[in-house]
Amino acid sequence: MPWASRFSESTDKMTKALRSTRVLTNAGLAPASVLVDGGRIAGFCGWDEVPPGVEQIDFGDAALLPGLVDTHVHINEPGRTEWEGFYTATQAAAAGGVTMLVDMPLNCVPETVDVSALEEKRKAAQGKAWVDWAAWGGIVRGNAHAIEPLARAGVPGFKCFLIHSGIDGFAWVDEADLRLALAKLSETGRPLLAHAETAGPVDAATNELNEAGADWRKYSTYLASRPDAAEVDAIALLIRLAEEYRTPIHIVHLSSAKALPLLAAARDRGAPVTVETCAHYLWFAGEQIPDGATEFKCAPPIRDAENRDALWNALDGGLIEMVITDHSPCPPAMKRREAGLWSQAWGGISSLGLALPVIWTAMQRRGLKLERIGEWMAAAPARLAGFAGKKGAIAPGADADFVVFDPDAQWTVTSADLYFRHKLSPYLGAKLHGRVVQTWLRGELVFREGKFAGAARGRELVRS
Ligand SMILES: [Zn+2]
Repeated sequence: MPWASRFSESTDKMTKALRSTRVLTNAGLAPASVLVDGGRIAGFCGWDEVPPGVEQIDFGDAALLPGLVDTHVHINEPGRTEWEGFYTATQAAAAGGVTMLVDMPLNCVPETVDVSALEEKRKAAQGKAWVDWAAWGGIVRGNAHAIEPLARAGVPGFKCFLIHSGIDGFAWVDEADLRLALAKLSETGRPLLAHAETAGPVDAATNELNEAGADWRKYSTYLASRPDAAEVDAIALLIRLAEEYRTPIHIVHLSSAKALPLLAAARDRGAPVTVETCAHYLWFAGEQIPDGATEFKCAPPIRDAENRDALWNALDGGLIEMVITDHSPCPPAMKRREAGLWSQAWGGISSLGLALPVIWTAMQRRGLKLERIGEWMAAAPARLAGFAGKKGAIAPGADADFVVFDPDAQWTVTSADLYFRHKLSPYLGAKLHGRVVQTWLRGELVFREGKFAGAARGRELVRS
């Protein structure tokens, strides 16, 4: 048995063996038993070689995947808990097989731009997290002095905007601000995560549309107001700065495939630049979005089907490393669904908990194998946040975080399947393949077939 040689620990400490005919490890999908001890993965043994006296939990042919890591979630707590909160967001995560998430620093009050704000977030999260979490720090105009203290306090990296964030308290940065920040960041070893759109092309396009009397109920108007050029400009600047400062820069939620050639060239030169895209850019296409359907509003926008194909090719080829949700909810009234004006609606898509079946359904149409999920939705985001080896892989020494996934189940998304605060999502009605059956966090069951198990045991992960 290939697994037997990796099983070296003494059996008396083993508390559990989780087995399935489809366990996803670094070697791919294969039958195995995963030995769990004290919340961590101790090793493997053959599917039918669980040592006597060890509790065996058999998942049959359901896939046993690593707990997913979502490094792009807006929890909004403290301060905007009427939008979302730790309790509901982390329950939605657990229900979707996500065992670690990283919170974005802008929609909470105070914004996570200094250590005292981080401490307030820590207090707010106490006893409410169903999965493990960490908090990105924020870089805004004038807070370069806070970067080093926030890094010392344990944030895994920093997020900034190159365009208005939608939150007045989270000021966007220009090249001069970025230079100040990168000089500090380069000493911390933490990545800079950047919302990569510049204001120039967006403002110019918006003015032109308004002068022409464009109809803001139409999705095509909104799409035209956030042109590809805004992303391409921002990404060119970010690549240049990453190379100059030799500091890792991560492009969040890439939407425009027009930026892919720039990113490919940067990768060839060895530039320290990484890229994520969102489940919604890989699932929806702009042509299909109804006018007035502002639950689809996000920035950058969902582009056309051809663009979506190009994103899939880049993901398949490794240029885009990871898929996250960018779960960014708001109270439904802020979507102004009755007016249906894209110019007035809050930008952000609610989706936490749905990404695994969404991506798997789309992968099947493209002939991609389930194995790929482990890298895209667990290992790569864990690496970005600095928790490789601890999160995002079924490997000895890692936390015993698992999602038990039935890849063959078929279902339709209803509001009863949404565990986040407000049940408004563009995925309502989506017909999906694959369903999360159970989720395990550090060796304990947290979600099983629509119900949560135990208590909110999630911990903050601090990067040292
Ligand atoms: Zn976001």
